[in-house]
Amino acid sequence: MKRQIRETTLELIQGDITKSEVDAIVNAANSELIGGGGVDGAIRRAGGDEIERACAEIRRREGGCPTGQAVITPGGNLHAKYVIHTVGPVWKGGNSGEAELLASCYQKSLRLAVDNDIQSISFPSISTGIYGYPTEKAAVVALTAVKGFMFQDNTVPTTIRFVLFDEVTHTCYLDALRTVFGK
Ligand code: ADP
Repeated sequence: MKRQIRETTLELIQGDITKSEVDAIVNAANSELIGGGGVDGAIRRAGGDEIERACAEIRRREGGCPTGQAVITPGGNLHAKYVIHTVGPVWKGGNSGEAELLASCYQKSLRLAVDNDIQSISFPSISTGIYGYPTEKAAVVALTAVKGFMFQDNTVPTTIRFVLFDEVTHTCYLDALRTVFGK
């Protein structure tokens, strides 16, 4: 599914984000920036040592990355030149600021993209795996955050792609697209 909004194309596809041919892919990282499972493990395996070295340097310098924030490293062996690591919230029932923190992940990642002249970016479904955020809710938060950024900033990347690993997640995002952007 593709939508054209001003100069930006928003795409929702099902697939493996490590194969994405974009300038930057976004990683659902943990706040220690230490290799984990899920999409983080897949990105680190595909990208190789350069990603871990850059994360280790950020750990030394800044102690990691707080929830809702984002940091950038090279993409190593990935097609993508950069990986933007953002730390989604762990789902605790919805009354612990999860939605604001999740929206912040998308906003901070897009801000880093703009600051690094990134024209195309792929996002996974942040927080909906090990961190347990209900996918239907997360999809609405994600697309609302991206929409807000698209309308507030003129220099957004020209391609924003969500690469969703499984069919259920892809379907949730397609439904949320209709809710957030209308038919
Ligand atoms: P979190 O800890 O933020 O919940 P996870 O990595 O556990 O992060 O899951 C986030 C989403 O990423 C889930 O929908 C999961 O299925 C998906 N995912 C896992 N591997 C990949 C991949 N290679 N490409 C795209 N998405 C992936």
